[in-house]
Amino acid sequence: MTHHDHQLHQGDALKDAARDRLTKEGEQWTEMRAAVFDALAGFDKPASAYDVAEAVSKAQGRRVAANSVYRILDLFVGANLARRVESANAYIANQHPDCLHDCIFLICDTCGQTVHIDDDSLSGGVRKAAKSAGFSAPRPVIEVRGTCGDCEGE
Ligand SMILES: [Zn+2]
Ligand SMILES: [Zn+2]
Repeated sequence: MTHHDHQLHQGDALKDAARDRLTKEGEQWTEMRAAVFDALAGFDKPASAYDVAEAVSKAQGRRVAANSVYRILDLFVGANLARRVESANAYIANQHPDCLHDCIFLICDTCGQTVHIDDDSLSGGVRKAAKSAGFSAPRPVIEVRGTCGDCEGE
């Protein structure tokens, strides 16, 4: 299965898609949740709950606890608004909150830049292999570490 009609959102379009998605989940798009999503989407590399809390605190001019940000990020992951990058122990805004499938992340070991690719035949193969090994409801986490094109050139 390919995703030719698959849309990657950016900027305001991404915010709108995220809000629609969360609302469809029956959750409210509160000011705090919007602020957390804004902050997360502003990072070009995976951000920890602490990083996001810092960014929200700065934007709002008041101290926001990492704990409450962590809970919101967790909610975002559950609602497909954000992804956990497991090997970086961090989060990244999901560029296609309206479409559920397994994302593959390429993470640069030098600068931390994270590129997002979608290849459902690849993740589908992993899913199928896990199922035939007796795993139920497998959730592939595919992350590739290496050196990005920018760092390679230096
Ligand atoms: Zn994806
Ligand atoms: Zn790099």
